[in-house]
Formats: sequence, structure tokens, C-alpha cells
Amino acid sequence: MKLAKSANQTQSKLRSGILQPDKKSVLLVIHLQNDFCPGGALAVEGGDQVIPIANALIRFFATEGFGIVATRDWHPENHCSFEEQGGPWPSHCIQGSRGSQFHPDLKMPPGTLIVSGATNCRKEAYSGFDGTSLEDRLEDLDAQTLFVIGLATDYYVRQTVLDACKLGFRVVVLEDGVRGIDAEPGDSQKALQEMKKAGAVLANSTALGISL
Ligand code: ZN
Repeated sequence: MKLAKSANQTQSKLRSGILQPDKKSVLLVIHLQNDFCPGGALAVEGGDQVIPIANALIRFFATEGFGIVATRDWHPENHCSFEEQGGPWPSHCIQGSRGSQFHPDLKMPPGTLIVSGATNCRKEAYSGFDGTSLEDRLEDLDAQTLFVIGLATDYYVRQTVLDACKLGFRVVVLEDGVRGIDAEPGDSQKALQEMKKAGAVLANSTALGISL
């Protein structure tokens, strides 16, 4: 019953067109960097599993000429979120380090817009909009709808999506294209429900009719 209901909801959203990317859609690829993937300093379990999905979506958006923006965590080496500075995380994504680079399997077209976040050593920033040019870049692209994938569901994705909803963007979070840290079990699920409550649509990338 549950499945049938959710399939119906997806169908009605498809009919309303919200899952159909168009020229006012932007693919927002969040923090697909080495340090958040297995083997990295702050690895998200299964983080690299979203890369094939990301690549398929990137290919689709690039072919259609729709916008693609990639965010990256881009910390100075003494960032306040690091354990040595009294923060909660091991040091990660230090500007220019191997860990800060995008995962080598991620295939982004040359010229993809990159937005660097959390660059102020005294301030943590989980939202891609916090202290960055992301809102301006999206405005330049005339974006109305954001299709969101990346890491980590319960931190950077969550806060970026909540801010995007607040800013008035339509937001589609592609659940198979995100993975979470789950410091407390269930954090990612809780974050997804919070995003939904804020107005984001939760969907599977297969609902876009893109072959992976
Ligand atoms: Zn960080």
C-alpha cells in the first residue's frame, strides 16, 4: 500500500512537471570530494556510490545545456571545525590538498561552475549559500529548480537545501544521489524529512527518465 501511494505521488509530480529538468533547472553537486569518500579523512559510508549517478545526471544536464554547479568544502588548514582547533571533525578538505579534490571518477565538463565554501577559518558553514557566491551564480543561470545530489545528507546537503527552500527555489533532492554521515543513527533520514517539510521534493533519479 505504502509503495503504491508513493508511486502515485511521484506520478502526480511528474505530471505537474516538477521532476522534468528544463532550462531553468540547475544540477547542484555537493561536496563530491576525496575526503568525504571511502579512504578520505571524513569518509561518508558509500559516498563514492553516488558518483555513477552524479555522472549520468551531469551528462544529461550538460547535453541539454542546463546549468551545473559543484560545491566544495574548502578549508584553510587551521579551520575552526577541526579537532585540533576544538571543533567536531578531523581535519579535511584543506585547500589544495588531495583530500579537497573532487573524486577522480567524477566527470565534470570543463567550465563547470565551482563554488568553494567554509573558507573562513573562524566560521563553520554547512550551507553552500553561507558566505559564498552560490546565490549569485544561480541567479546568473536564471535558476528556478535545483536538482540536488552529494554529500553529506545530514550536514552540507541538509543545510544547503533548507536555505535554497527559504530563498524560494524549487528543490528536488535525489535520494539515491545522497549519502549521510549518521553520527547518530537515523540522522540522514531525519534530515530528509526536514528538507521535505521545508518544501523540497524527495525523488529517485530514475524518476527523471535518465539512463544510468
Ligand atoms: Zn568541512
